Amino acid sequence: MTKVLFLDIDGVCNSEEFMRAEHERTGRMVILGIDPKPAALVRQILADTGAKLVISSTWRHSEHDLQVIRDQVHPDIYGITPRCASRFRGDEVRAWLEEHPEVGPYAILDDDGDFHRGQHLFQTSFKIGLTQEIADQVVKSLLLQTMAVDSYPKVVAGDGEPWQGLRTKATDNS
Ligand SMILES: [Mg+2]
Repeated sequence: MTKVLFLDIDGVCNSEEFMRAEHERTGRMVILGIDPKPAALVRQILADTGAKLVISSTWRHSEHDLQVIRDQVHPDIYGITPRCASRFRGDEVRAWLEEHPEVGPYAILDDDGDFHRGQHLFQTSFKIGLTQEIADQVVKSLLLQTMAVDSYPKVVAGDGEPWQGLRTKATDNS
């Protein structure tokens, strides 16, 4: 079963701290960009869990920005979330999941909180971005969700076809 990581960029793969450090190092103002440290943590999450990458950041609206993500975060982008009229990121994640029944376990990395209750959000801060601690929580969640899916009883139906059990999806209580 496919697992995905929904990734925001600003406040996750860059931060206020990163921009300040770059300014001190280069003497130039750095606006946003990609900090190699959190980018490496994202690659570690994907490697440890086998999850695929879905971009939920506004960076997804620019082909140039998507290429920067491929070059500096991860070369394979599995998808991008749609733009919903509400501009509510929780709606955009939900709409993407509805179009992708192959996906079970998922986690969301974002520094904003505009998601539905029950969605698997791991919130970073714009001040420091993605930390090792949060990355570890994401890995644990994806692995636990995968175990939960795998432990559903597989009963053989009358026609001999194994029943694959229910698929897990975020319960939306909004
Ligand atoms: Mg952000």
